[in-house]
Amino acid sequence: MPESPEVETIRRGLERAVLGLKISKTEVLFPAMIKSGLNLIRRFPRKRITSVERVGKHLVIKLEGKLCLVIHLGMSGKMLLLPKSSPLPKHTHLVIHFREFAEKLCHNDPRRFGYVHIVTSDGLRDLNCLLKLGPDATQLTKKMFDRMVKARHRMIKPLLLDQSFIAGLGNIYSDESLYKAKIHPRRLSHTLRSSQLDSLRLAIRTTLRQAIVAGGSSLNDETYLNVDGELGRFQLQLRVYGREGERCFHCGRKIRKIIVGSRSTYFCPRCQPVQKR
Ligand SMILES: [Zn+2]
Repeated sequence: MPESPEVETIRRGLERAVLGLKISKTEVLFPAMIKSGLNLIRRFPRKRITSVERVGKHLVIKLEGKLCLVIHLGMSGKMLLLPKSSPLPKHTHLVIHFREFAEKLCHNDPRRFGYVHIVTSDGLRDLNCLLKLGPDATQLTKKMFDRMVKARHRMIKPLLLDQSFIAGLGNIYSDESLYKAKIHPRRLSHTLRSSQLDSLRLAIRTTLRQAIVAGGSSLNDETYLNVDGELGRFQLQLRVYGREGERCFHCGRKIRKIIVGSRSTYFCPRCQPVQKR
């Protein structure tokens, strides 16, 4: 599932390729993916793309005429730039064609857990999926994070996954961050010391930054690709995620897999000990 590093990699790729381009036409192949504003798509032709932004795990593509395309990639969503003449990949739901550009932009999502909203800039402010988001995981300050976590009485891993708490983290990067900060995934948030919370905040930041540099993670199941159809490389740097039964790089103990808040969770039982009572 694309988390903020994958969405950020896609955002950067789109920004490089389509920023400033004028749309010539759009094709909607599966209208049910567009949860609101389908009628606004008629206004897309002749509009230029003015910005490509990321809000949590959402892509926000802004056009002239105060139009915005908000895309959540769900489990298996991709944004692919393909030559105009190439056939559309299976499960392509939306295609944007440009004037003076040899490629078309295809929104593709085989499992259809993602969604698209088309809104005006005024509507963007009221869009529920964006309104409910917490601060971005890359933007947390020490004071803010300390106060936020201690105010909650929840296990830390599900709390990190809660997009209304902080936006952008998913299963992979929360496990990697908790490992780096040496915190057990079931640890109760209000029992964490300020020093541990600061380690966690920095671990989240470093993990996300390194993952962006590596172009995101492509795991074998729901393979993520960037806009050029290339795989990410951060899966080669994963410390715990997907490594059940393999040795911890730090202490040599076997990495364990448990279920926390209904999600598969990987951790090192020695480096991330259970909280002492
Ligand atoms: Zn270890």
